[in-house]
Amino acid sequence: MEMEKVIEIQHLSKSFGSHEVLKDIDFTVNKGEVVCIIGSSGSGKSTLLRCINLLEKPNGGSIIYNGENILDSKHDIYGYRTKLGMVFQHFNLFNNHNVLSNCMVGQLKVLGRSKEQAQTVAMKYLKVVGMEQYINAKPKQLSGGQKQRVAIARALSMEPDVLLFDEPTSALDPEMVGEVLKVMKELAQSGLTMLVVTHEMGFAKEVADRVVFMDKGVIAEEGSPEQIFNNPTEDRTREFLSRVL
Ligand code: ADP
Ligand code: MG
Repeated sequence: MEMEKVIEIQHLSKSFGSHEVLKDIDFTVNKGEVVCIIGSSGSGKSTLLRCINLLEKPNGGSIIYNGENILDSKHDIYGYRTKLGMVFQHFNLFNNHNVLSNCMVGQLKVLGRSKEQAQTVAMKYLKVVGMEQYINAKPKQLSGGQKQRVAIARALSMEPDVLLFDEPTSALDPEMVGEVLKVMKELAQSGLTMLVVTHEMGFAKEVADRVVFMDKGVIAEEGSPEQIFNNPTEDRTREFLSRVL
């Protein structure tokens, strides 16, 4: 079956000074696919996500979206960025806004939706993450797991083509990891396109369509969860897995 590509990365590179953090990265995210990125701390996972959503400027390569290289200087970066949702390790909620408002601000300011429409959409996604009872709460009144579920609802409220997650459960107390992974699993099953950097090997194994193993700025190996976890071809994949599993 021919898959529809949402984002295609070609020869992407990124350096900080003389430190080459991403080296000639190639990979594709297809529509409806869940891709998990795994690898040691410092291997370049966050930098890759930050390059994809242009929080960092790549030094070279292409990011093809809708058939166009968005790194071309004449490209409309603003429009592209509204099509990507991002969920961060530390939630990055607006602390002075309540839950409902957190899910409306971007819709009002970036998408130009009406207040009424933004509220309807926000409520729809707050229900999806099970936080509709908390619309008037401020972030500081919520647990970490609840905050992250609101952050996911906020990202969904922008109705992005792909949702990027950077270790969404790493900052959570262990007892709250499950509720966030459960929401993410439901989103995956609903057909959302997701690119997830994670240390949760159980999640990657169970939910990913494809697993990408990064090591020292390169994609060392990628394949089905079955292949990566049960039958890796690279020594460094085996070595990494033996440390984390
Ligand atoms: P990971 O998310 O896999 O832990 P990162 O992408 O955060 O890895 O980092 C990869 C490497 O790039 C690390 O050596 C890190 O120190 C370096 N790095 C990341 N961001 C910056 C930055 N803004 N300035 C300088 N070095 C950075
Ligand atoms: Mg990281």
